[in-house]
Amino acid sequence: MAVFFRFFIDGNYFDLGGTMLEVKDYIGSVDFTTDEITTDEMEVIFKRPKVNHYIEPLDFTTDQMEAIFKLAEEIENKPEFYQELPCRGKVLATLFFEPSTRTRFSFEAAMLRLGGSCLGFAEPGSSSVTKGECLADTVRTVACYADVIVMRNPKEGAALLASKYSPVPIINAGDGGHHHPTQTLTDLLTIRQLRGNIENLTVGFCGDLKFGRTVHSLASTLARYEGIKMVFISPRELTIPDYLKTGALAKNNISFIETDNLEKVIGDLDILYMTRVQKERFFNEEEYIRLKDSYILNPERMSLAKKDMMILHPLPRVNEIAMEVDSDPRAMYFRQMKYGMYVRMALLLSILEGYGEEKNAEY
Ligand code: ASP
Repeated sequence: MAVFFRFFIDGNYFDLGGTMLEVKDYIGSVDFTTDEITTDEMEVIFKRPKVNHYIEPLDFTTDQMEAIFKLAEEIENKPEFYQELPCRGKVLATLFFEPSTRTRFSFEAAMLRLGGSCLGFAEPGSSSVTKGECLADTVRTVACYADVIVMRNPKEGAALLASKYSPVPIINAGDGGHHHPTQTLTDLLTIRQLRGNIENLTVGFCGDLKFGRTVHSLASTLARYEGIKMVFISPRELTIPDYLKTGALAKNNISFIETDNLEKVIGDLDILYMTRVQKERFFNEEEYIRLKDSYILNPERMSLAKKDMMILHPLPRVNEIAMEVDSDPRAMYFRQMKYGMYVRMALLLSILEGYGEEKNAEY
């Protein structure tokens, strides 16, 4: 397990490579006379979770997530520490069997900013998938050339399946209408940075709660924090799946209500998580057309909301947030995108560092 860090010691840059144990030993013997790195910052580095695959949001404990958030914050505040060196020589592969803008670009930007390289495809049409190659073989192939694979696939469970065959870490960048764990890291980092903590919040989820994987991941993760109440706002046809209600929400005794009326509840919310209706998951186009504009957040509706309510959206936005809302100081969705890159930098560092600690899939 190799680690790659650049520290400031005695006012000088200092590059560290080696095993975590060696680095700990080394640091134990160094007198940090500089104030450029504090004990807290070292803690951030050493408490980082050591993980292999990241398939579902609950693969991390809240403590591990907190370590990732602290690291992301550290990266944002001191980009020069993390520029170019930590992932030198490492290769990230992005396998996107479904469209993406933010997730793919932010992962690639994260790896490039850490000094690594990227390869991959943005749509499977240019790969051997069109010749009939199965996912297991595609993953086994790409793993020969990359150190970590970020994958998005329209099939629920695809990332889990890939992880069974991959000798390198798999990060789930969305599996059908199931989960999107790195969006949850992005959402929670945004809340934490902009509100100071992730507790005692009434969070409204609005739109397509049935197929919206970001909602499933965020709701099940938020359920583990203190004092969280949830309000699910959707048409009857697009309500949150039962498995979440009887699973993560019940397990954590989360108090929630379901409604189809945004105006009635918007005034109670600390966070409004808007989502688009997921066109690509509908079997019936007429049904999509009937439901697509169920909710449109506009200045009039925003006038009913708390003065400090945060609007989040995983994006892309279609019609569900009117453009006029973008200039409302409560609109945080563009800042949210930026946090996505920092949190993915922190995740890549954690995953590449942890790789090899546990036994990987047979190859
Ligand atoms: N970009 C998010 C996702 O991939 C949200 C969306 O597409 O609506 O799930």
